[in-house]
Amino acid sequence: MSRTRQWQERWDAALMGNYGTPQVALARGEGARVWDVDGREYLDLYAGIAVNALGHAHPAVRAAVDAQLGTLGHVSNFAVSRPVVELAERLQELTGLERVLFTNSGAEANEAALKIARRLRPGGGFVACEGAFHGRTMGALAVTGQPAKRAPFEPLPGPVSFVPYGDADALAAAVGSGTASVVLEPVLGEAGVVVPPAGFLEAARAACDAAGALLHLDEVQGGIGRAGAWLSSSVTAPGVEADVVTLAKGLGGGLPIGAVLARGEAAHALRKGDHGTTFGGNPVACAAALAVLRTVEDDGLLDASTKLGERLARGVAALEHPLVQGVRGVGLWLGVVLSAPVAAEVEQAARAAGFLLNAPAPDVLRLAPPLVLTEEQADAFLAALPSVLDAVQASTRVRA
Ligand SMILES: *Cc1c(COP(=O)(O)O)cnc(C)c1O
Repeated sequence: MSRTRQWQERWDAALMGNYGTPQVALARGEGARVWDVDGREYLDLYAGIAVNALGHAHPAVRAAVDAQLGTLGHVSNFAVSRPVVELAERLQELTGLERVLFTNSGAEANEAALKIARRLRPGGGFVACEGAFHGRTMGALAVTGQPAKRAPFEPLPGPVSFVPYGDADALAAAVGSGTASVVLEPVLGEAGVVVPPAGFLEAARAACDAAGALLHLDEVQGGIGRAGAWLSSSVTAPGVEADVVTLAKGLGGGLPIGAVLARGEAAHALRKGDHGTTFGGNPVACAAALAVLRTVEDDGLLDASTKLGERLARGVAALEHPLVQGVRGVGLWLGVVLSAPVAAEVEQAARAAGFLLNAPAPDVLRLAPPLVLTEEQADAFLAALPSVLDAVQASTRVRA
């Protein structure tokens, strides 16, 4: 039995069934490359679901974590510590938002943002989008526009109205004096990297202004370089300023950290005792995040990822493979839309060929590689993709 199989069996015997059995058992990584427990090498094109912005085992993150853990690992929010303040200040500078609250995950950042909105409009409801994903805790799940994920856990906090993503008129009609906030992804991530139509986020801003509701942009997946900018909304809707922005995935370079950033009255809505988290803003996670921000800036990774993303998108489109219907996305955050619902099969065939990517929808592949991916690595994937697609096409034709 392979080592992978042995680890899968131990996983199944010890862990709950909510994830199913992972198809790969990884042992180590370096940059955009990872190796499994049987010694097979892969190019990592999903980066732990858009998390490992600097890839695996980046020296800057390792040094920052090691130094922080060697001096002060955890203090709680009863004490000030340097990395926490420095990270908050850095995020203020990078985004222009006024105040920061740290959490441990994206869902927790969204929970806090929902509480901020409720604090300002007691009893208020929320407007969110069909197909959107905001996390798995009860509040974040309540605004997640995927009925199958919500249904088993209802009743959830509310009221929540869902509108089609991109439908500015439906959004404007749903927002009113009872709306605490409008919760939006500037690009739908889990739904398959869906870029909004021009004007949609602008219309959301206008509807919020008219109703006195907060505009909450969920940048948990799109923030910190994924879209070739610190915030993905500055690519898909330049000029639209949110009241509340949530971050997580790419921020910590692999360490668990989330953040809520806010301006105006939302920045000052929470009063002493209103909210808290023991681990949120842990100095080690904050030190890792500072290393990520510094490295992204020093190494010019925002521009590099924009260029590399364009190279990948052009390359996929140029294949003119019958299974590829189109490519969409921004920065190093791409959805390859297939002409048949065989994304899971392509994911599996790509893995067999040494490439890790994932299939967020039956007909969409997501590419969200580390921002440190090299041109050579991108080209190696493009060179291998036709035979991966051919293999899937051949096997699905046999089944049909
Ligand atoms: C992943 C994700 C979340 C949830 O983050 P967790 O850290 O998994 O709780 C929320 N919103 C978006 C847009 C995400 O992609």
